[in-house]
Amino acid sequence: MTTAICLCCGAVKLGALTPCPECRFDPQENGDKAKAAVPTEHFLSQEDLNAVSERIKSGLAVAYPDELGKDLSHDFASNSGLGK
Ligand SMILES: [Zn+2]
Repeated sequence: MTTAICLCCGAVKLGALTPCPECRFDPQENGDKAKAAVPTEHFLSQEDLNAVSERIKSGLAVAYPDELGKDLSHDFASNSGLGK
């Protein structure tokens, strides 16, 4: 399984498209799946994964590659209340 970071709470989980064990966020929408595929060991180093996790836990926006869309930080903000 791939080490990934939950988009909602920053928890480390196994598999980009699996439900988060911490907050139960489960990427189902295509946009969510695209975002969920980014903070994984396929694209980021362990160091970068840790940085993404810390940013999410701190409530900061995560920078995504441009090709995934310009307004992902807005989408992320609208999801950030999950699991609180
Ligand atoms: Zn989570």
